Amino acid sequence: MTNKHKKTLWRIIAAAALLVWAMFGPTLWLPAGLPFVSVGRTAADGTAAFALAAWARFLIPYLVIGWDVLWRAVRNIAHGQVFDENFLMAIATVGAFFIGEYAEAVFVMLFYQVGELFQSYAVGKSRQSIAELMEIRPDYANVERDGQVEQVDPDEVEVGETILIKAGERVPLDGVVLEGRSDLDTAALTGESLPREVQSGDDVISGCVNLTGLLKVRVTRAFEESTVSKILDLVENAGSKKAKAENFITKFARYYTPAVVIAAVALAVLPPLIGAMTWSESLHRALIFLVISCPCALVISVPLSFFGGIGGASKAGVLVKGGAYLEVLSRTQIVVFDKTGTLTKGVFNVTAIHPETCGEDQLLELAALAENWSEHPIARSLREAYGKDIDAGRVADVEERSGRGVRAVVDGTEIFVGNDKLMDDIGVSWHPCHRVGTTVHVASAGEYLGHIVISDEVKEDAARAVSDLKALGVAKTVMLTGDAQAVGESVGKQLGLDEVHAQLLPADKVERVEELLAQKTGKGCLAFVGDGINDAPVLSRADVGIAMGGLGSDAAIEAADVVLMDDKPSKIAVAIRIAQKTLVIVRQNIAFALGVKALVLVLGALGQANMWEAVFADVGVSVIAILNAMRAMKGQGQQ
Ligand code: ADP
Ligand code: MG
Repeated sequence: MTNKHKKTLWRIIAAAALLVWAMFGPTLWLPAGLPFVSVGRTAADGTAAFALAAWARFLIPYLVIGWDVLWRAVRNIAHGQVFDENFLMAIATVGAFFIGEYAEAVFVMLFYQVGELFQSYAVGKSRQSIAELMEIRPDYANVERDGQVEQVDPDEVEVGETILIKAGERVPLDGVVLEGRSDLDTAALTGESLPREVQSGDDVISGCVNLTGLLKVRVTRAFEESTVSKILDLVENAGSKKAKAENFITKFARYYTPAVVIAAVALAVLPPLIGAMTWSESLHRALIFLVISCPCALVISVPLSFFGGIGGASKAGVLVKGGAYLEVLSRTQIVVFDKTGTLTKGVFNVTAIHPETCGEDQLLELAALAENWSEHPIARSLREAYGKDIDAGRVADVEERSGRGVRAVVDGTEIFVGNDKLMDDIGVSWHPCHRVGTTVHVASAGEYLGHIVISDEVKEDAARAVSDLKALGVAKTVMLTGDAQAVGESVGKQLGLDEVHAQLLPADKVERVEELLAQKTGKGCLAFVGDGINDAPVLSRADVGIAMGGLGSDAAIEAADVVLMDDKPSKIAVAIRIAQKTLVIVRQNIAFALGVKALVLVLGALGQANMWEAVFADVGVSVIAILNAMRAMKGQGQQ
């Protein structure tokens, strides 16, 4: 409970005590000549002075509990925002005072504040649990300077400095292990409970917890660029992308409040005019109607449900950038996958080297050198296969050709490394390979040097990812790849995908996605899942872009709407399941809040509800809606 909550609580207690005193307290002696105020009487049955005294007795608790509501109502009117819930509460209770319903006026305000306190507490609670969940912000870094180890703030450490991470400490900055070997707990980032083993040469990511050994790490990114900062930013901004259901409420309020006020005026004025009621009766009824009309439950529980859904998803290692994307995810009809790095591990093994005019070692060396600056999984694998340190001085003028390969000048000669398309582009005739796998051709100065065959493995959970999606009602699963037809088809068959489109350039992928977008029916949505390497255009073209491998890949974190923190495609189904559940809860809350509200409003208009019942109904509906919204927070779908 925050201080603000405590203050409100004390105000509620004080106002309640004062109200009890006003209603049942000992008779109060007033200055000589005035009659004393007796219990439970109202203005209607006393002299003017007597009435004033009773007024005053209830006015104190009323102001104690309601001053802020009155103040906000006045201030908002001054700002031109007349119709909000503060306004409704203010005119309803001030009106109640005027017709002599003092106790009711105070009670209405009191219950309203209890409801508000509860709502604000619930919202705070869910924000806090998301924050706790994301408790990944490191407090300090042990940095080595001039042979001494100092404890400093992580943002004071510069790139290139060496930090020490002891067992049990949180990794404060992204870096590369220089010395030591340990297990890292990445659960806070990925939802993955299995520790990850690291040793010298491996990357470590801020936010993980070092479980066992001492690690010496060279910092590769400044704190504000680090994985932790990126993720925290993302979570903090998640609220800004509003879902349609949330916008619906804002629009709804714009029409609803004036409508209610007009209806209340009609209720107050019409019956006395036709002689069906006294003015005091009709005014009373109109005021009750106003109190009942406050749509608090709706206003608070819908955003809270989305917030809960986002929290539940991040517990499962899925970051959703806003409620809007949960809404879209829940309607997923087509899922389009990128192949490399998404369905497959993106770690290629060299299975054959077929040189034409040079030696095997030389072919691999040229390829690895030309790929020195590329981040493509193929490039990484070729460097890995080469195994030796690369003298970057031998490589110049590097140009990456997306979906084709690379061009570079190695030792002064122009080298091309890539697929059939790249060879055709430069007019070099190439030889197809009989081996199944991805063929990487190498050419130099217009001459074909040979090819290297590499192969990738599908991820362990890729087949399950596809079958889970089917089970959730996804109508179509499609794979797009820049790789060869044979490779694409074999992966597609292995995983049970509905469609495979191979040999696509990044621009072709966008085109394919456009075609698939046209195939959607009804409210169905298309999700694209990629690893963030050269598929940013498609990620943003899809209804919802899901990026793999949030760990470390900035491009993916930025371009996507949803980030899977571990590389597991099976988390897509988890995310969709959470989204669907959240939307069910949102709909339940909207229907329930509006239904009860409509019922009570009708009863109020017919004079069948008194003010106390009206307030109880509103607080009750709010509480139930909030409890329902909290269900979205539970880490469901996390099997
Ligand atoms: P995917 O759609 O499977 O993720 P990409 O669009 O990243 O594939 O790449 C498509 C094809 O382009 C690869 O299969 C490869 O033949 C070629 N390619 C792309 N980048 C490189 C590179 N850096 N080195 C060699 N070949 C590459
Ligand atoms: Mg790719």
